[in-house]
Amino acid sequence: MSTKTKFEICNLLVETVRKDIKNIHLGVYPPNGRIRVAAPLKTSDESVRLLVISKIPWIKKQQSRFMAQERQTKREYISGESHYFLGKRYLLNVSDIGLIPRIEIKRKAHLYMYVKSNSTLKHREKLLENWYRSEIKKQIASLLEKWSKIIGVKINEVEIRKMKTKWGTCNPSYKKILLNLELAKKPARCLEYVLVHEMIHLLEKKHSDKFKSKMESFMPNWKQFKNELNKFPLSYSDWSY
Ligand SMILES: [Zn+2]
Repeated sequence: MSTKTKFEICNLLVETVRKDIKNIHLGVYPPNGRIRVAAPLKTSDESVRLLVISKIPWIKKQQSRFMAQERQTKREYISGESHYFLGKRYLLNVSDIGLIPRIEIKRKAHLYMYVKSNSTLKHREKLLENWYRSEIKKQIASLLEKWSKIIGVKINEVEIRKMKTKWGTCNPSYKKILLNLELAKKPARCLEYVLVHEMIHLLEKKHSDKFKSKMESFMPNWKQFKNELNKFPLSYSDWSY
């Protein structure tokens, strides 16, 4: 048996479900940041309120993450939209006079997209993806040169893909690395960190202590880059790394 109630506190609407469970649980859920408390049957209203109040900063943080996520997923690729490239925000300016679709950075913070007049959302999305891919390929080429010497490994191939759950993976037998296309939106140091992490997998397959000590010695600030990577505007889904 369960009973549902709703109340408002500090402008937040909270759903409470009382049921036969042992512990009280507070959750914030996508896409709108709905707040729900599941509580044992005998929990008083006061206890629920106190729990919610004590967690307000956390609730707000979760809600703003979901909102950022919402904004990121609803892209239309029209003028005025913000798009990230190497950790920097650019204002998109779409011009439909392009004979050959292309993208250019202008006036430092503007991303000009030239498309054909009949371009669809899909065309524009693909154009930006291809641009991201070719831009980070350039970065990767010079990073590979630098880090191959430092780490002492040779990579045969780096492929950039759209991936749902990972920033990168490495196949040590083929000496092949896959990197997430989303990295194009993150600061360059984050891309470098993921690449170095994957390159170290050629020396150490697992995330062992040896792996960690190698990471420490090659890139002492790696934890900072990792945190940064997971803090930057989310898009599409939560990332694990
Ligand atoms: Zn790894």
